[in-house]
Amino acid sequence: MNDSTMRHVVVIVGGGAAGLTVAGLLRRTQPDLDVAVIEPSEHHYYQPAWTLVGGGTYDIARTRRLTADCMPSGVTWIQDRVTGFAPDRNRVELASGAAAEYRYLVVAAGLQIDWGRIQGLEATLGSNGVTSNYRYDLAPYTWECIRSLRGGEALFTQPAMPIKCAGAPQKILYLAADHCRGAGVSAGMHFFTPGPAMFGVPFYSRALDKVVDHYGIQPHFAHNLVAVDGPAQKAVFEVAEGEEKRSVELSFDLLHVVPPQSAPDFIKASPLADASGWMSVDKHSLRHTGFDNVFGLGDCTTTPNSKTAAAVRCQAPVVVANLLHALHGKGTERSYDGYASCPLTTSNGRIMLAEFLYDGVVAPSFPVDPRIPRRAYWWLKKYYLPFLYWRMLKGHLGFDWHRQRSFPEALPAIEP
Ligand SMILES: Cc1cc2nc3c(=O)[nH]c(=O)nc-3n(C[C@H](O)[C@H](O)[C@H](O)COP(=O)(O)OP(=O)(O)OC[C@H]3O[C@@H](n4cnc5c(N)ncnc54)[C@H](O)[C@@H]3O)c2cc1C
Repeated sequence: MNDSTMRHVVVIVGGGAAGLTVAGLLRRTQPDLDVAVIEPSEHHYYQPAWTLVGGGTYDIARTRRLTADCMPSGVTWIQDRVTGFAPDRNRVELASGAAAEYRYLVVAAGLQIDWGRIQGLEATLGSNGVTSNYRYDLAPYTWECIRSLRGGEALFTQPAMPIKCAGAPQKILYLAADHCRGAGVSAGMHFFTPGPAMFGVPFYSRALDKVVDHYGIQPHFAHNLVAVDGPAQKAVFEVAEGEEKRSVELSFDLLHVVPPQSAPDFIKASPLADASGWMSVDKHSLRHTGFDNVFGLGDCTTTPNSKTAAAVRCQAPVVVANLLHALHGKGTERSYDGYASCPLTTSNGRIMLAEFLYDGVVAPSFPVDPRIPRRAYWWLKKYYLPFLYWRMLKGHLGFDWHRQRSFPEALPAIEP
């Protein structure tokens, strides 16, 4: 070991939602545990509220805090960036040239947004009516674009899965449609997705079809955004028709883009990734499939759940239980059931709270039909969930009432 090698019992890569929650929970469970978090960013972001910012109903400044203020007490913050993993030597390499060694490693580095994979996009983001709620600095511009819309065509895009918060591309669509309806603006509302349906879980997708009908939105399935010409306000889509692909160019007045996403490059290039590039973990134990002292959670792994902070809420206690069991040889091991939640903002004031497990099993927190958009869920999303989130980072998890429940196949009345 040289001078620039740090050594900790638990090293966590990434101080986002997942990394800090695990750090906080580890310290609350075992206050003398030596835990370090490697996180380069000065700021921590509450990303789930960026949808509300784009919808003009939340202050962007409230979604950002200093990382130093979010760090759970007693945790060592290494403000650096991981560049490589050497799991056979229990070591991670850092951008500064230093290294960190561990007995247990938790990888929670989130995902990478591949803005550059859409030709012309980066040059025009934030101007010409081209925006995205997937960036802190752009979410306020989304609202600027929506409220200055006077007609014409508004296009909302979704890339191929997986992405973080699979519902976010259409949440802003409904908020925009609701605003236009209220303001008496008659604009063409369009949703583009490479997939065959509005949502991956058929139970909720059928209900969302009703919301789409309600607003007169035109869904365009099998459409993938590939290029944008900002100054000319034109978007190019690749349309899949069986084996064939054709190109379609459309004019827009507003273009909300959700770009393709993938595992961070430094994970893709590491021995922790599988062929897909994501960090390979067992979907129940969240333990790495090849290295017993390595765990992973959050957006960066292969687990086939919806990548959300809600999923992190249920993954973190599993990682902590299984890591402490491995460390001490006692305690109860736990298993993650794939829980995720997607609060779909069907209007400014109501939410359809989609909650589900692996394989699309419907598992709501409350014993009422989750397909019905409710005002109570709006208040939950706007006020209570942010409060819970900031506490979660310190290891206070709050409620978890989700469980598998049955509902009639027939759709209830849906009033967005
Ligand atoms: C617009 C939008 C809407 C959303 N809506 C919802 C919602 O309604 N409900 C919900 O539950 N979820 C929602 N999400 C998703 C949620 O924010 C993420 O799933 C969650 O933040 C994942 O946590 P994470 O820790 O895996 O990743 P992140 O929170 O993104 O954190 C990853 C961390 O890793 C750090 N990192 C990256 N590279 C390195 C490196 N080389 N070395 C060290 N550290 C590194 C980053 O700086 C970052 O701090 C939304 C996301 C967006 C963008």
